[in-house]
Amino acid sequence: MGNKTLAIIKPDAVRKNLVGQIIAKITEAGFKIKAMKMVRLTKESAGGFYEVHKARPFYNDLVEYMTSGPCVPIALEKENAVEDYRKLIGATDPDQAAPGTIRKLYAANKAENAVHGSDSDENAAIEIAHFFSRKELLENYVD
Ligand code: ADP
Ligand code: MG
Repeated sequence: MGNKTLAIIKPDAVRKNLVGQIIAKITEAGFKIKAMKMVRLTKESAGGFYEVHKARPFYNDLVEYMTSGPCVPIALEKENAVEDYRKLIGATDPDQAAPGTIRKLYAANKAENAVHGSDSDENAAIEIAHFFSRKELLENYVD
């Protein structure tokens, strides 16, 4: 069981000024912030991040949405991080998300759904490396 995951506060939530409230939910749930930045993704970066969804009909819209404004990637640490964070954010579609979850509270719909969460330990490592260099992770290390 791994202890790291990648969260992203997506552009819709940043536009709605929800960064602070979402971070509060995350830290209240016991996650530790290991690295964080605010960044406007290029089409190349967003397209690469969501490469696994390339064949899906929503891929182009997804890349457009993720490049529509700045987002906030956050490397998180907690025991059982991937599973616990997915539980905290709720289902992809906020209509299906459990009460009290971040997506239930803040997502508009299944496309513009406020936050990202890694789906496995392997992908968490790949996704953290997508946004944070080894040097950044080491220099910013908070114990
Ligand atoms: P999750 O983010 O819950 O892991 P997926 O990996 O299946 O969900 O999809 C990645 C992202 O693509 C979603 O968070 C959402 O922004 C978007 N997305 C997923 N399914 C759809 C859909 N059917 N229509 C539009 N956008 C979608
Ligand atoms: Mg996913």
